[in-house]
Amino acid sequence: MMNDKKFDVLVVGAGMVGAAAACLLARSGFSVAILEAREPQVFDSNAAVGLRVSAFSPGAQAVLTAAGAWRQIEQQRHCHYRRMRVEDRDESVVITFNAPEFGLEHLGTIIENQLVQWSLWQTLQAMGGVEIICPDQLDALEYENDEPVARLQSGRSIHCRLLVVADGANSTVRKMLGIDQDYWEYGQQGIVSVVETGQPNPGIAWQRFMQGGPVAFLPLQDGRSSIVWSQPEAEAQRLLKLDDDTFCAELEQAVAGEIKTWPGTVVSCGPRAAFPLTMRLSHSYAASHAVLIGDAAHVVHPLAGQGVNLGLLDAAGLAEVLVQARSRKADIAGEKTLRKFERWRRSETEVMAKGIHGIRGLFMPEALAPLRRLGLSLVSRSWTVKEAFIKRAAGRNRNAPALARGVALTDLLRT
Ligand SMILES: Cc1cc2nc3c(=O)[nH]c(=O)nc-3n(C[C@H](O)[C@H](O)[C@H](O)COP(=O)(O)OP(=O)(O)OC[C@H]3O[C@@H](n4cnc5c(N)ncnc54)[C@H](O)[C@@H]3O)c2cc1C
Repeated sequence: MMNDKKFDVLVVGAGMVGAAAACLLARSGFSVAILEAREPQVFDSNAAVGLRVSAFSPGAQAVLTAAGAWRQIEQQRHCHYRRMRVEDRDESVVITFNAPEFGLEHLGTIIENQLVQWSLWQTLQAMGGVEIICPDQLDALEYENDEPVARLQSGRSIHCRLLVVADGANSTVRKMLGIDQDYWEYGQQGIVSVVETGQPNPGIAWQRFMQGGPVAFLPLQDGRSSIVWSQPEAEAQRLLKLDDDTFCAELEQAVAGEIKTWPGTVVSCGPRAAFPLTMRLSHSYAASHAVLIGDAAHVVHPLAGQGVNLGLLDAAGLAEVLVQARSRKADIAGEKTLRKFERWRRSETEVMAKGIHGIRGLFMPEALAPLRRLGLSLVSRSWTVKEAFIKRAAGRNRNAPALARGVALTDLLRT
């Protein structure tokens, strides 16, 4: 039966990154199987806004368009933002970014992760050339004639030429491939919640660096904000346990300066959850007939909202490298092809990850306040630095994959 079929690509993990990669590769004409351990949750637009929300860059939007999922996403709740404001804890330095200054329609879009994942899943289901294997999971990885064979929990075996590892931050497949990681525990947790302010969020992604860590207010379509508040672990746990009114009062006090100019107060909050904050960088993104993408390859601090954006650019970069290899009649799983992908995406993600790590380091200790203010005021006055920052954060710098820069998939396939 299907056990005998050999796929060009087996993607392990249908999170946002793995599902996007499977869509792009299937739309590029490769035969694709995708394996996912858990059935994705149906997105219900009548349900409360989910706790996991991400800021998707224009580059990520272009990738989701090429994957065929954006049309469905934009028909549901989402919020484009055209302004971003970053400030030091005492508001002595403020950096603002406005989309039109940089020739962009918007700087990003706030969308619930579940909507993106569900839209990609439905796109996969509607597509020919993709076999969805769910729920099932990879138990063991073997090689036959140098090519991967995935042994699944169900007893099935899947043969492929290339294994795309997208099984998230705790990737077991990365470990099976023997790829190590550098790992930083920040000793912090990111508290997420949806809050209502006295005056609705005017469509600004706003972030302040405070003593305990950064807090971000991301705009939602209904005028509320999705927050990510980074705090040392013990403090995060204390904040989680507070009753809603006390939590709102503490949050309001922490961001008091901004709330005055917004203007308003934190009037209510929804459920809260906290996620541990880490940075993980894999020593390699490629192994024999296998590549790592998304959180399986790299995890970054969420302060710049880049995790899933980097992963979607990995997916686009992989599609580009494989399409080019095929048009040169080269092996899509050959060492040269995979090293090209790994050199490109690893250097790009490390620049971003280490940049975010450095920014975080600069903002934490009070002793670095003078240096921080100097750096921030230089950035706030330099259009060139701001433009370079925005282009990279938008996924539109010149090393970004063609699909992220807005090249249509049909044009990529013609090259
Ligand atoms: C508080 C917080 C805020 C964030 N905000 C942002 C933001 O604003 N912008 C941004 O870009 N990023 C943000 N991120 C990061 C972002 O959430 C992640 O980078 C992204 O979700 C990773 O997606 P992924 O598909 O790589 O991995 P995952 O979402 O972890 O998906 C992995 C999938 O693999 C499946 N799987 C695992 N093992 C197996 C197996 N053995 N067999 C089969 N299937 C398997 C899992 O079930 C899962 O579906 C944030 C993160 C945090 C913690």
